[in-house]
Amino acid sequence: MNSIRAPKFDYIIIGAGPAGMAAAITARTHGLSVLVLDEQLSAGGQIFRNIESLEATRNSEFSKLGQEYEFGSFLVRRFKKCGADYFTDRSVWQIDNNLQIHHVSASASKSNSVISHCQAKRLLIAVGAMERPMPLPGWTIPGVMPCTAVDVLYKSSGLIPDGEVVLAGSGPLLLLIGCRLLDVGVHVSAFLDTSMNGALLKALPLLPNALRSHKYLTRGLSLLWKIRKAGIPFYSGIQNIEALGASKLEKVRIGKSGKFFDVTADLLLLHNGVVPNVQITRNLGCEHRWYDVQRYWEPIVDDWG
Ligand SMILES: Cc1cc2nc3c(=O)[nH]c(=O)nc-3n(C[C@H](O)[C@H](O)[C@H](O)COP(=O)(O)OP(=O)(O)OC[C@H]3O[C@@H](n4cnc5c(N)ncnc54)[C@H](O)[C@@H]3O)c2cc1C
Repeated sequence: MNSIRAPKFDYIIIGAGPAGMAAAITARTHGLSVLVLDEQLSAGGQIFRNIESLEATRNSEFSKLGQEYEFGSFLVRRFKKCGADYFTDRSVWQIDNNLQIHHVSASASKSNSVISHCQAKRLLIAVGAMERPMPLPGWTIPGVMPCTAVDVLYKSSGLIPDGEVVLAGSGPLLLLIGCRLLDVGVHVSAFLDTSMNGALLKALPLLPNALRSHKYLTRGLSLLWKIRKAGIPFYSGIQNIEALGASKLEKVRIGKSGKFFDVTADLLLLHNGVVPNVQITRNLGCEHRWYDVQRYWEPIVDDWG
């Protein structure tokens, strides 16, 4: 398999999201040879997915995404000019102990014949996060989707959902995507907040720390305000959700404090936060620990991250 000699790099970065791109720029300013591998077709990661094409061909949609995306576009431009080698459509599937990295075409494209292994002196794994699955009764019915899937469809192809949309779960990304849907004229018929009753009270001791990042707090409040102002029924403390329908979603059954009611829906979007993508660090045999506050496994890292 390794008959062709693997090209060598001082530094190989897996992931061309904001973290990977920023690291590549920094490494290049220190004169290192850098290779960035990413399974997407363009740089930007999850948040800035397809950003170059969005800005060039769907500028009115790009401007709706806000100031952050202008920064994202600037970051991608700097990354593309920094002198790092960059292979798109490459999925890393194996890393040997000597840091030989094996990658394949993520889209299984036959024309993508880039050499499928390379050698790193140092490796940075910047593969980001994945949406946490949110299983509930009926979640396999057509018309029930993870919330970020809608975001991926919108950013990559400009697709927006039809009909009545119900959003359910918790976390800032749910609010953000809910607001984005409102901006593009989607009819959101209910917002079901599954945060536990008393969660705010429990989080109170963390408030002094949170106030240090008041920009995030203000942003979260403004997203909440936008949803409330749009008059969308907002149900908090929801304990039970069931998706109902024969061949596709027809309604969502909602339970709170022992009482149940139904909302008609064509699409139910579920979100319960994101968790680190640990496939590669698991494959490498890195040590992981359980982070109880956010309830996920994370690799143990040193001071350099
Ligand atoms: C679907 C989704 C949508 C999101 N949308 C937003 C949003 O709109 N706004 C927001 O603030 N936050 C969003 N987030 C949260 C997001 O994780 C962060 O905001 C931000 O993108 C993290 O940056 P990052 O560089 O750490 O990782 P990412 O941006 O996730 O970049 C990681 C990159 O690694 C690549 N990769 C992963 N595994 C491999 C592999 N095996 N081989 C090769 N390449 C690989 C991926 O293709 C990706 O481009 C989203 C998260 C998800 C899962």
